This record gives sequence, C-alpha cells and structure tokens, in this order.
Amino acid sequence: MSDIVVAKFGGSLLRNSAGYLSLAEEVRSLIRSGYRVVVVVSAMKGVTDTLIDVVDAGWGWEQRLKHIMSLYLSVARGSISNPGLLSQTLGELTRLFDELFKLVWAVKVIGEATPHAKASIIAFGERLSAALASAVLRDKGIESTWLSGGEAGLVSRGEDYFDAVIDYAESSKWVGEALKPLVEDDVVPVVMGFTARNREGKLVLLGRGGSDYTATLLARFLGAREARLYTDVDGVYSADPRYVKEARHIPRLSHEEAMELALLGAKKMHPRTFEPVQGTSIRVAITKPAANRATIVEQAEEPPSVKGIAVMDNLAAVTISGGGLVERIGAAAYITSIAAKLGVNIKALAQPPTETRITLLVSRKDSDKLASVLSEELSKLAVNVEQREVATINIVGYGVKEPEISASLLSIASRLSGVMGTVWSPGSPILSIIVEPSRTWHIASKLHEEVVSKWWIG
Ligand code: ADP
Ligand code: ASP
Ligand code: MG
Repeated sequence: MSDIVVAKFGGSLLRNSAGYLSLAEEVRSLIRSGYRVVVVVSAMKGVTDTLIDVVDAGWGWEQRLKHIMSLYLSVARGSISNPGLLSQTLGELTRLFDELFKLVWAVKVIGEATPHAKASIIAFGERLSAALASAVLRDKGIESTWLSGGEAGLVSRGEDYFDAVIDYAESSKWVGEALKPLVEDDVVPVVMGFTARNREGKLVLLGRGGSDYTATLLARFLGAREARLYTDVDGVYSADPRYVKEARHIPRLSHEEAMELALLGAKKMHPRTFEPVQGTSIRVAITKPAANRATIVEQAEEPPSVKGIAVMDNLAAVTISGGGLVERIGAAAYITSIAAKLGVNIKALAQPPTETRITLLVSRKDSDKLASVLSEELSKLAVNVEQREVATINIVGYGVKEPEISASLLSIASRLSGVMGTVWSPGSPILSIIVEPSRTWHIASKLHEEVVSKWWIG
C-alpha cells in the first residue's frame, strides 16, 4: 500500500470558504503525488472559544449559537458547487445544529453541565467542520466520509474530559481497524481533531490546540510517512512575523525545539504534539496549502544553532527575599504550595545557591493576590515580598547550551537598558531574559539581529 499522509487543517486556515477550498485542493494534490490521505480538522477560527462561552455564559447563548450556525452555513454555500450536494450538506449541518441547540438547552434548563455534556458541546466546532470538509471533498470528486476522534479509534485513559491522555496500546489496536479499510478503498476519512473516546465510549477532549496532537497520534498508529500541519503561515519563523519583519523561515527543528517554540506561542500547538512521533521516523511538516516550503520537525542531529525568539508578556516577577529563607528546608515547597492553593501557575522559578531570594514568574493577573498572601503567610520569617511587571524574551535552540553562544547573547542584552535578569535550566534549549515590558520589542529585535547574523543555520 502506498504511504499515508495525515493532513491537519487548523482553525487559522479554516476561517472562510477559501480555507475549505484550499483543504480540498491540497488533498487532491497529495493524492496526485501518490499518497493516501487522512484529514484532521479543527473548528473554524474562534468557534471553540465561542462554544466555551456558550456553556459558561448565563445569557446571550442563543445569539452566539446563531452566529456559529450562520458561519458554517455560509461557508458551505461558498464552497460547494453541486446544488444537490449543497442542499444535502445544509440539511446535515442544520441537523447537527439542532442536536447542539438541544444539548445546550438541556444544560441551561438543568443549570449545570456534566463534564461529558460540556465536552460534547465544545466538540461541535470540530463536528460541524468535519461534516463540512468531507462534503467539500465530495463536491470536488474525492470520496470521503467523516468521523469523530473516538470513531477513528483514539481511546483515552483516566477520568479527564478536557485534557485527556491517550491510551497508546488501545488506540493502536483500533485506529488501524477504523481507518485503514477506508484509505485502502480510496476514501478520505475526515477526522474531528481535538476529540477521543474514553473507556466507556464517551466523548472526551484532548486540550486546547489538540487537533495537532490528533494528527501526530493518527500518524503514529497508522505508521504514516508524514503528519502535515496546515495553517495560515508556511512554517515557524525565527520571531513572530507580525512584529519582527526580518523574521526568517526556519527550515528544520528538533522535537524539543519545536515544542518550546510552540509553548511560547509561535504556533500555539498542544504540548503533547510531538510525543507520538518521538522515536519514530515520522516527519512533521508545518506549512500552508500550496506553499513551496515548510518547517520540518524531526529527530535530527545537527550542529547547535539558535532557531528563534519568542516573547511572553503580561507577566510579573514576585520576589521573596531575606535571611529568613536561608537553609530553611521546605521554604521553596511552602512558597510554591501557597501558589498552588491559590490556583496560580508558576511559569519560571529562580533562586541563587545562597538561598537569599526566590523569584516566581507568574501571570500579571495573578501577582497581586499571590504577593499579598505570601506577605501575610511569610510574615513570621521577616522576609520581604515585592512584585514587578515584566516580560520575557525567550531564545530557543540547542545553541543556547554552548557557553560561547549564550555569553554572546547575554553580552548584547547587558548593553541594552531594560534587562533585569535571566532564567536557564541546565540542559534546556531555552534561555529566557527577563525585561521591563516597555523595552521588550526593542531588546527582542536586537537579539534577533544577533541570532540571525551569527548563529543562524538556515
Ligand atoms: P492553527 O489555527 O492552524 O492551529 P495556530 O494559531 O496554532 O494555527 O498558529 C498559527 C499562527 O501563529 C499564525 O497565524 C501566526 O501569525 C502565529 N505565529 C506567532 N508567532 C509565530 C512564529 N514565530 N512563527 C510562525 N507563526 C507564528
Ligand atoms: N478547536 C480546538 C481549539 O481551539 C482544537 C484545535 O484547534 O486544535 O483549541
Ligand atoms: Mg491550533
């Protein structure tokens, strides 16, 4: 049998009829190149956020649902040309909306949603998208059918409905059985991204950005040659192309480098995206339909280089300092447990070996609460608690482990005003520079120039 390619189309691309038409064109071109194709789709841009609001909001949910409905129906009209197929598809989408409406109505009447009901409602973005994409493929003469992640064989373990973990042993049994007969018959399955089923057969979600994870999971269980993640840019860039116009296209990334960049917002991928392909020869390509280049993510051995810079802002540094911390076993655990009790996520953490201070980097929205509770709880140690608004500039690539490269980057940073410190965990391919928020993009651009001129391997 010829090689399988799993092609995932993201919400950034699926925002209008042109997005769905480019999906069909790309599938046709992959088939022409001799591949068998499995498609994974996300919800249309913004729809998942709206559905989450629908479940949580007390009022205005009918309006929001109507907006989603008109979005999908108008895209169907703009991308399906056969009149019979169009009316059949409008009928199918309307029936799905009916189901969604009833589900939301039931939740509103009861006044609360079970995790399963909530997950099922949120998954409707992908459900409608899969029904639509499959119809657009059929309209262009490509045999197709659509299924949920669970029907495609993805089985989760554990109790989580929103950030489910996939059971590899179970899923590898079912995915081949569900999808291989279809691709062998030249039918293109369109799988709802972001979804799986648990042991009881109920729908669960894989976490935000989970369609990328769906694609790499299916690629693994099908023994595919490649997972292609299609979005509205032709790959990952050395900095956010919306802010840094000199940003360069990155041709190759290791799994670890790609993950760090993704977590920093350069492509908002699910944190587990590369787990399924680690230790396999499956390539992951990040690209845009009809583009002639991509960022290839694979297990690669290459000389250390620096790949990109990404900014994380709206942060605050909360620093606890004073002799009361020194050699006090459990002080760090106590401080972090206070953050945990408050539901505050710690983004970075630093302490000198003398133990005289501990700095926690947290979201700006959490820092007032954290600083005031810490002051109160730690008053007996007579320590000082202060906070400052900050941003981080994060430099990603194995090169930052090389003293020569990191020293050169830090020496540039030290000559610029607004730099407050650094965080690096030994062995990590990410070096973070803490800066004053107003200076972020100025410093980021200077560091980006240095990276591109000296340490870039294109
Ligand atoms: P999708 O909706 O297809 O899953 P994402 O939203 O995850 O796509 O990511 C694509 C977006 O990431 C692009 O629209 C792009 O503007 C943005 N982006 C931010 N930083 C970068 C970067 N360094 N390289 C590439 N894209 C970036
Ligand atoms: N639609 C889901 C989200 O917005 C999954 C995805 O797009 O990957 O998180
Ligand atoms: Mg995404």
